[in-house]
Amino acid sequence: MSEVAQETHQEFWRPPSPAVVDAIVVREAIPTMAEACPRCSTEFLLGSRFCHTCGGRRPEALSPSAKADAAAFAGLWEQGVAGMHSLVAGLGKIKIPSWLRYLHFHEIQSWVGLPTASLIAFVIGVGCVSGALLVGLLTAKTFVDWQAIQFYRAEWLLAATAAFVAGILLKKPSGRDGE
Ligand SMILES: [Zn+2]
Repeated sequence: MSEVAQETHQEFWRPPSPAVVDAIVVREAIPTMAEACPRCSTEFLLGSRFCHTCGGRRPEALSPSAKADAAAFAGLWEQGVAGMHSLVAGLGKIKIPSWLRYLHFHEIQSWVGLPTASLIAFVIGVGCVSGALLVGLLTAKTFVDWQAIQFYRAEWLLAATAAFVAGILLKKPSGRDGE
């Protein structure tokens, strides 16, 4: 492999120093480098460590077993996605529940009559209130625990209040919608 380093014309992708060439040649001896750039899918030049198109680093190639695993996983994933698609298609064929559209955000929005920001704040506030209620499920064994639970509850309720106030503030008066 030393003749590679002694070639008179240096290719642009080869470093001039023989030591570096040796290092690269040693690396090349183990065929573990990827064939194509994962970013721009350009084929790497022989011995290059970086992509000549996008400059991306040349990654290590996957080992055959890892490749097989990835292929198997991809197959499983494809099957899962296909199954999901057929399931959704089957459900769509069976019935499109008309009440389901009421769960859509815009339906709720038109129903409640709040602007988007206010509705989001409202939902956050409702979530905080439910958090405050869920804190009640915690059981306190000691007085310190009980105190901590009260603090949690107070914080959740404070957050809910803040969210509701934000919702009120974000709701523009109906007369100034053009703002
Ligand atoms: Zn590239």
